[in-house]
Amino acid sequence: MSQYPNRFFAREGVDPLRYAFDRKIAVHAGAGGQPLSREEALPTWQTLGNRPDTSSRRAAYINVPFCRKQCLYCGFFMRTLRHGDSSCYTDALLKEMKQVSGLSAVTSHPIHAVYMGGGTPTALDAGDLKRLIEAVRRLFPLADDCEITVEARAADFEEEKVRACVAGGANRFSIGVQSFHTKVRQQVGRTLNRTEVLEMLTTLTDLVDNSAIVIDLMYGLPDQTMTIWEDDLRTLIEETRIDGADLYQLNVFKDSLLSRAVNKGTLPPPADISCQAEMFLKGREMMTAAHFRRLSMSHWGRTSRERNLYNTFIRCGATCIPLGCGAGGRLHGHYFFQKRDLKSYYRDINAGEKPLAAAIILPAYSPLFRNLVGQMEKGKVNLTALGQQHGFDLEVIFSPLLKQWEQTGLIKRQGNGRIELTVAGEFWNVNLAQFLIDYFQHYHQEDVRS
Ligand code: SF4
Repeated sequence: MSQYPNRFFAREGVDPLRYAFDRKIAVHAGAGGQPLSREEALPTWQTLGNRPDTSSRRAAYINVPFCRKQCLYCGFFMRTLRHGDSSCYTDALLKEMKQVSGLSAVTSHPIHAVYMGGGTPTALDAGDLKRLIEAVRRLFPLADDCEITVEARAADFEEEKVRACVAGGANRFSIGVQSFHTKVRQQVGRTLNRTEVLEMLTTLTDLVDNSAIVIDLMYGLPDQTMTIWEDDLRTLIEETRIDGADLYQLNVFKDSLLSRAVNKGTLPPPADISCQAEMFLKGREMMTAAHFRRLSMSHWGRTSRERNLYNTFIRCGATCIPLGCGAGGRLHGHYFFQKRDLKSYYRDINAGEKPLAAAIILPAYSPLFRNLVGQMEKGKVNLTALGQQHGFDLEVIFSPLLKQWEQTGLIKRQGNGRIELTVAGEFWNVNLAQFLIDYFQHYHQEDVRS
């Protein structure tokens, strides 16, 4: 073990759920890649865009870079919505959609999931939301059962906008609730109180019969005690009719408004990792007892309407056509980043150019890594089958890690190269996935092709 960095190995002799590692990796596991400059990104996109893509999991992502108000914990806020933004931005997005809709990479195969995120898509006006969703359905080869998600903020998703989205063709709504507790949610920038949030969810579920409604709940927020977290979960289970929920831990971004508020002492510090681990466990127990289905480590479905396709595809490295200011997407082994500055975005769109800021050539083993991450998200990995698919003996390659993780209670090995995450392994699954990728890249890339 000593020839490898300690960071790959869990602490021994401690409770693995709370203390396996020093630091919890909060973002998705990934493998980096070789960056391309702005000048290289555009011709690369043009070349790859003209190449058909027949992969079986395909998505499109539409970014709306506006919010009416910034939440303190947010790492995705881009700008406050101003008068005129809604129609101007929608017009530009429609142009961009037309510009890419004829590419072979787009037309060659059905798209199974469209996600409108941000920012806050529901900051846009009702008519603009409808125009956008109708345009996606008209211009892109959507599968008959394509999941079309609109991410919404409870405070600005009024009845008129709900009706506009449904009329446009959206069939899934993801609402950022974060907590039902009035003080906990309002002190991090959410505006509605508990009663208003519940009323909004009731209205929404009454209005959209055949669509999936999912909510996000966060754990570890300032002042969110275990009692409050249990009440958040109980409220979700007993007082709403939603189809699914994402339970995710608070990640305090450096220099975020939240980290500044905590440093200044205007908000108490959020929960530490061991407390978050207990909250994760509580969420797992209560959702299981309420018969929610586990769709990923953090995502739960209550009805068969909820499929969580987009998020599942993205973790598995599916093709994703990026649209909008600040969007990101993946095509033919490359990751593309669109410009985040609205002026440059408008300028490129009006010039008929894809508004790219940069791109990354993904590593050669990226498909293996994405499959690995996808299986880790389900809690079970078949290393033998995965290895055969990609030409490696993964059980041998990863054996030092697997042995130590089994001893420290993070995984169970079940024979035939199958491993299953324990509850502690589930909590640390992003760390484990990232360590497998890093370990493979640093120690076993060249010499183990079977
Ligand atoms: S509404 Fe969403 S994107 Fe906007 S600041 Fe809040 S969390 Fe961030």
